Amino acid sequence: MSKVFKFGGASIKNPKAIYNLKEIVSSYKENIVIIVSAIDKTTNKLEHVWEVYVENKIDKAHEIAKEIIKFHESVVVDLKLNNNPKFLNLFNALSLELVEYIGSKTKQENNLSYSKIVSFGELWSTAIISYYLNQEGLENQWIDAREVVKTSNKHIDSKINWEETQRKINVDLRKDKTYVTQGFIGSNLDGETTTLGREGSDFSAAIFGWCMDAEEVVIWKDVDGLLNADPKRFNNTEILKNISFKEAIELSYLGASVIHPNTIKPLENKNISLSIRSFIQLDNPGSL
Ligand code: ASP
Ligand code: MG
Repeated sequence: MSKVFKFGGASIKNPKAIYNLKEIVSSYKENIVIIVSAIDKTTNKLEHVWEVYVENKIDKAHEIAKEIIKFHESVVVDLKLNNNPKFLNLFNALSLELVEYIGSKTKQENNLSYSKIVSFGELWSTAIISYYLNQEGLENQWIDAREVVKTSNKHIDSKINWEETQRKINVDLRKDKTYVTQGFIGSNLDGETTTLGREGSDFSAAIFGWCMDAEEVVIWKDVDGLLNADPKRFNNTEILKNISFKEAIELSYLGASVIHPNTIKPLENKNISLSIRSFIQLDNPGSL
């Protein structure tokens, strides 16, 4: 049985946060499929790259892309990954691919270029985390989620092809290994990069959990769990320690922004438990 952990952008926002992720993962003996979002606000920045790219402002797009790459390079140096040739091969190839993609702008369909450009956030973050964990003795394999998460042709807010995704995941992933892979991205049957909608990494965790019949899915967040009301509007809110799938779905549709609404249904279907836990307050059991 495996576990699926999802870490969002805030939980990996700097080297210290990535160290914290390592501490969390290494406190478990089980094999874990680790799903990671882009670092901090990288997706917003990449959306900006895409916006200027579709306006044909290629120089500007390059300029912003290079700033984002520079930021990631500073994380690489801080985590002492800059002496690892295998890592650098992967990381530099990704950065070069983005720069070249922007430079070779043809009349592309906008949704296709959107997913292509924003996907680099998750590709970089997972490359960094996978190699960092290996460096620290936490053996794992980096997976390109586009090889296994198969979607409809539509490039944005793509629908999951459950049958094909399950087949691929079960061929490529073993239950006795730890993996690091991207949330939010997939590919269509033509192999083109697709995305699952903003904040879609929670849903990715549910997809892997469902396909692998995971024992549980844990979403690590900067909140203590699901609250019974919006803390911005009510005092004395309380953590919901145990809540049914049905109530969780209702809450997420009513606007509780803690989890992506698509996340719950697949887990409910297979009765896979879902926890929302704080990556800061590790003693806190969170919401189940
Ligand atoms: N990085 C993507 C976004 O910011 C996906 C996610 O964070 O879940 O929307
Ligand atoms: Mg994100």
